[in-house]
Amino acid sequence: MTPSVKTLSVLGATGSIGRNTLDIVDHHRDAFEIVALTAQSNVAELARQALKYRARMAVIGDEALYSELKSLLSGTNTVVAAGEDALVAAASETVDCVMAAIVGSAGLKPTFAAAKHAKRVALANKECLVCAGEAFMTLIASGTCELLPVDSEHSGVFQTIAAADESSIEQITLTASGGPFRSWSNEQMAAATVDQALNHPNWSMGAKVTIDSATMMNKGLELIEAFHLFPVRHEQLSCVVHPQSIVHCLVSFTDGTTLAQMACPDMRTPIAYALGWPNRLKAPTKRLDLTDLSGLTFELADENRFPALAVARAALEKGGAAPCILNAANEVAVAAFLDRKIGFTDIADLVGWTLDRCEALGLTGRVCSLKDVLDVDREARMLSGSRLDGGP
Ligand code: NAD
Ligand code: MG
Repeated sequence: MTPSVKTLSVLGATGSIGRNTLDIVDHHRDAFEIVALTAQSNVAELARQALKYRARMAVIGDEALYSELKSLLSGTNTVVAAGEDALVAAASETVDCVMAAIVGSAGLKPTFAAAKHAKRVALANKECLVCAGEAFMTLIASGTCELLPVDSEHSGVFQTIAAADESSIEQITLTASGGPFRSWSNEQMAAATVDQALNHPNWSMGAKVTIDSATMMNKGLELIEAFHLFPVRHEQLSCVVHPQSIVHCLVSFTDGTTLAQMACPDMRTPIAYALGWPNRLKAPTKRLDLTDLSGLTFELADENRFPALAVARAALEKGGAAPCILNAANEVAVAAFLDRKIGFTDIADLVGWTLDRCEALGLTGRVCSLKDVLDVDREARMLSGSRLDGGP
C-alpha cells in the first residue's frame, strides 16, 4: 500500500450516502482501500459491495442474515460478522477515515466508536450531534480524530468559515428546499400520502431524511447539528427556504460580508470534500453555470405550516435532553407514517406531544454521556410508541 492510499470504512454502506461514497471511491480507485462495510438488512447489496471492493470486513446488523452473508462471501478473504456489537467492532477498526452514514440513533454507538479509533470521521449521521452533541463534541475535543461534516449545508459552512476568526461570525443561515409540500396548505398536507412525501423535488435520499425534508424537521435537526459543530449561539442560527437547492448556506460576518457556498444538489460534492480535505477530490457532478443562478429565490420558512421546525427550534433552545427526545419521537413518528399508521401532519403533533410529556416527567435535563443519551432515547421512544398505541 502506498502512503497516499487511505483506508476507509463505510457504516451504512448500502444507503444513499453509503452508495454515493462508494461512487466517489470508484472515481479514485487507487486512493482508497476499503476496510469495513456495514448494513442493516440489504445483504445482497452488502455482499456485492464487499466483493467489488475486496473489503476486509462486512457486517450486517440483522443477526438473522449472518449465514446468508457468510455464504454469499464464502471463498473470499472478507471477514463476516453480524449484530450490534459487530457493528461497533467494525467501526472501531483503526482507519484513516470512517464514513458514518447509518440513519437514525442506531448510528450513535458505531459513530462514537469511530471517533475513538479513526483518524477522521466524515459525519453524515446528524442524529449523533442532535442526540448527543455535547458528549460527541467532548469526545472529539479530547482526542485526535478530525470531524468533517457531510451534510451539505454544514459542509458549506465548514468551508465558508475555514479561515474566519470565530468572533467575526455574526449569523449562519442554512437553506432548505422546502420539500415537496413547500406551497401546500395545512389541509392538503393533512391528506398527503407516503408517495407524495417521498417525492422530493431536488434531492435523492433515504426515506427517513426525505420525510424529514417534507416536514422540515430535517432543517430543525440541522440547526441543532450546526449548533454543536460551529462556534455560535442558537440565536445566531437561522434557516431560509431556497427551492433551487443551489446555495447551501450563508455565513454573515461582522464587517457586513456574507459568504455563500454553492453547488448543484448532489451529495457526492460534500462527500468528496469530507474524504479529501484539506485537498479537493474531483467529483463527477454537474457543474454550476450562470444560467443556473438566474432564478435563485429565498423565502421565509412558514412555521405555521411546518410546525416541526418550531418544535425543533424550541428543543434547541431548551437544550439538555430535549433534542434527543425530539429525535427519538420523530424517528417513531416517521416510521409510523411510512407504515401508513398515522397521517403526515400527525408527525409533528406526536413529536410535540412527546416533548411536553417528557418535560412533565422531568426527563429533559442535561445528558452528559452516551449512556444517558441512550436511556433518554429509549424512554422517549416508549412514550411515543404508547401514544401511537392509543395510550394516555
Ligand atoms: P438510508 O436509509 O439510505 O441508508 C441508511 C443506511 O444505514 C443503510 O446502509 C442501512 O442499512 C443502515 N441502517 C439502517 N438502520 C440501521 C440500524 N438499525 N443499524 C445499523 N445500520 C442501519 O439513509 P441515508 O439517506 O443514506 O442517510 C444516512 C444518514 O445521512 C442520515 O443520518 C441522514 O440524516 C444523513 N444525511 C443524508 C443525506 C442524503 O442525501 N441521503 C444528506 C444529508 C445527511
Ligand atoms: Mg442537509
